[in-house]
Amino acid sequence: MQLTIEQIRLTHELDQLGSISEAPPPVVTRVVFTDADVRGREFVKSLCREAGLSIRDDPAGNTFARWEGSEPALAPVGTGSHIDAIPNAGRFDGTVGVLGGLEAIRALQRAGFRPKRSIELVIFTSEEPTRFGIGCLGSRLLSGLLDPSVGERLSDRDGISLNQARASAGFAGSLATVVLPSGYYSAFAELHIEQGPLLEQRQVPLGVVTAIAAPASLKIQIEGEGGHAGAVLMPGRRDAFLAAAEIALSVESAALSTRSVNTVGTVGVCDVFPGAVNSIPSRVRIEVDVRDIDQPRRDAVLQQIAEACAIIAAKRQVKVLSDVVNSDPPAQCAPAVVDALVQACETHKIRFERMISRAYHDSLFMSRIAPTAMLFVPSRGGVSHRPDEYSSPESIAQGVLVLAEALARLSS
Ligand SMILES: [Zn+2]
Repeated sequence: MQLTIEQIRLTHELDQLGSISEAPPPVVTRVVFTDADVRGREFVKSLCREAGLSIRDDPAGNTFARWEGSEPALAPVGTGSHIDAIPNAGRFDGTVGVLGGLEAIRALQRAGFRPKRSIELVIFTSEEPTRFGIGCLGSRLLSGLLDPSVGERLSDRDGISLNQARASAGFAGSLATVVLPSGYYSAFAELHIEQGPLLEQRQVPLGVVTAIAAPASLKIQIEGEGGHAGAVLMPGRRDAFLAAAEIALSVESAALSTRSVNTVGTVGVCDVFPGAVNSIPSRVRIEVDVRDIDQPRRDAVLQQIAEACAIIAAKRQVKVLSDVVNSDPPAQCAPAVVDALVQACETHKIRFERMISRAYHDSLFMSRIAPTAMLFVPSRGGVSHRPDEYSSPESIAQGVLVLAEALARLSS
């Protein structure tokens, strides 16, 4: 089989999709179910139709473009990613896996390959949490990890419900019908930009992802006692911010205590009330993000933070209320799909490294219902979610070539 990737065409298509944005180029803003998102979806679908794929949308707005295999009753092989983009983002996040996935299918078609299993390109709805506050909405619903009734109750900052927004974009029907049965896909492989600096630093063209880290996030509310910054003396103060500061340090030491580079803990939000220089903070809200590829280890870190909160609350005489916002299970990638990607790299003599995805992707959720792995292409400077996000046409083409080869293996 002679696989060739039409790099110039793919680059042009990525540019065209990038220009479908609520902001002028090079800025990409394409929030789910907005006009730009709807136009972006139409653009991709028209390319899929041109390639002879049959298209199905589900009520959540996930799109499935299928290349029918010679044995269509067999579970298909899936690939794909997302095209929604956070405000002020770039051209490559998600889109490389969608348009690259399509080009992989076209390359197989041009090579005269006929898959036994159907190959399905999936465009996941709302990978970004921008509008409805929850990331990977489409793949969560597909995998059954989000209760459809929770989905039905979501609304955006302007009070527009998910149901209204998806209906206005042309997606009707109950979210309860979105979930796919386990085993629906025989394998799933997502091509994505790395969004980190490692491949570039090591000058390795591709990364085969063996595990996907997942975040747990906490909202912690600390209530102390306010007062005049001059009149209230230090002994006996119940300063909510100082308690928050100690909790933040406990997050750091809990994350470090695992002695694994794969455990990370961050306090990225700190709201101080009343927020005046001459007033003792009476109330503070912090948000904590803890990630790992190993769930028991990550949960042990959460436990340590909870214990630290109790000790600090008692010592400083403040009230600490901690809420787990989300706690997604990390994923180990499926050896069979990892092997298919590795063998594809070897067949085409492209160097690769096995690596961990530290950001999470739709694949994290797909891994719950299908053997799943990911393939990363380098991101210049490790930059992502910015207009200057960049991956070279050559490296994207290498990723697409390997994806195509792997899809051929998995669908044969
Ligand atoms: Zn993405």
